[in-house]
Amino acid sequence: MTEENRMTLLTLDPLNTDLEQGDRALRDYQAVSEALRGAPLEGLDGLSVLIVGGGIVGLMSAYYASEAGADVTVLESRALGGAASGRNAGGIYANGRDIGEVALARVSMDLWEELGERGLDVKFRRKGHTIVAMNGTELSLLQRARDIYERAGVPIELREGSEAVAELPLVNPGIAGALFSPHDGQGYPFTATTSLRKAVVSRGGKVETFAHVERLIEREGRVAGVSTADTTYEADVVLIAAGPWTTELGRQVGAELPVRPRRSQLTATERLPVKGDFPFVSGNRVYARQTHADNILIGGGGPWEENGFHTTTTRQALDVYGTYMTEMFPGLSRVPIIRAFAGTVELTPDHYPLLGKVPGVPGLWVSAGYNGHGFGLSAAAGRMFTELLKHEVRGTETPAALRDALTDYAPGRFAKN
Ligand SMILES: Cc1cc2nc3c(=O)[nH]c(=O)nc-3n(C[C@H](O)[C@H](O)[C@H](O)COP(=O)(O)OP(=O)(O)OC[C@H]3O[C@@H](n4cnc5c(N)ncnc54)[C@H](O)[C@@H]3O)c2cc1C
Repeated sequence: MTEENRMTLLTLDPLNTDLEQGDRALRDYQAVSEALRGAPLEGLDGLSVLIVGGGIVGLMSAYYASEAGADVTVLESRALGGAASGRNAGGIYANGRDIGEVALARVSMDLWEELGERGLDVKFRRKGHTIVAMNGTELSLLQRARDIYERAGVPIELREGSEAVAELPLVNPGIAGALFSPHDGQGYPFTATTSLRKAVVSRGGKVETFAHVERLIEREGRVAGVSTADTTYEADVVLIAAGPWTTELGRQVGAELPVRPRRSQLTATERLPVKGDFPFVSGNRVYARQTHADNILIGGGGPWEENGFHTTTTRQALDVYGTYMTEMFPGLSRVPIIRAFAGTVELTPDHYPLLGKVPGVPGLWVSAGYNGHGFGLSAAAGRMFTELLKHEVRGTETPAALRDALTDYAPGRFAKN
């Protein structure tokens, strides 16, 4: 086996992350969780909120804002979740995350669990995320990652050699080890978006599909609504949750909100004979999960994948996924692939999202650019948006816990002076 580092979902840089950054992630997680526990979802009565984009981020924002009393309208160009939000693997995890995202990822996981308990059909399960090390180089990176995540409070276990093999069905017995968080979870995009829509509509909110926003409307120095080809919508607050389409909308009002599109593909196999206990795994250039229907979804991506809004699938992706997945899990080599699909992930220059008020453009907010992790982060994104909005409406200061946790996500950080 080669000593190349091919780990896929380890966006943490173990060699350039201090253990103290782990401490900060733990403090942020605890402080935000406490702040949210003590903050009832209320106080937005009478406020009209227009959300551009019916992906998971727009719908989560609509869900929490409508619970807090806002009069919410979501406008979506396509079908509900018609972009990445309906075409993703549903991973909701902290293991592997860049240290700057760990706190929010953990808050989000807790909220996903709560959504399930509230009766939404999000199919959230804590089945864990395992990062496989194929060689000694990767294992030593995972050892360092384990130390950082431990400091960040992420439940985490490192298994070496045969111990790791014993826990992973169908795996290559030659793997060097694995980093496992039993706390990590997964959900199901289709039922999640549908269920959120139902909840929003049941509170009097509107979710309109095939309603493409052409213009942001400005009046008296603020964004006062939007227009589609045939309708004008007025609102007190407009939230852009348009994933990789965010940049164009921002430019209409002079806001620099850089989000670059990149294709990402998935293949689905036939149902696996190993029922229901194949974990969310990543490594060796690919990642995979078993759906609740027992199929395996295999994805990957990498420098070879194309930038832009293309969503055609390619032979190269099938070859890469097939070759590297079966090298890591030879037991999957006889499981046929039955379909492939692609979506568009949304990349910001520093790989952190844009979340909050757009500076210099009163009335306009943004929640976008989740860098291919937006399904998992969306519950926290929606809840945090609602919390920030409550303080804006009341004219009270945002609690320090929320402000500190969101510092790296400030929407104005790319503005040209
Ligand atoms: C193959 C693949 C696998 C992935 N796997 C995972 C995973 O396991 N875990 C994870 O956390 N994330 C994953 N992701 C990433 C995740 O899907 C995204 O980060 C997330 O869906 C982003 O949600 P969003 O609502 O911000 O954007 P989107 O889903 O892109 O939604 C934005 C919506 O805005 C609409 N829109 C745009 N412009 C307008 C307009 N002018 N008017 C009206 N509507 C408009 C679009 O039609 C779109 O539906 C994956 C993505 C892909 C493609």
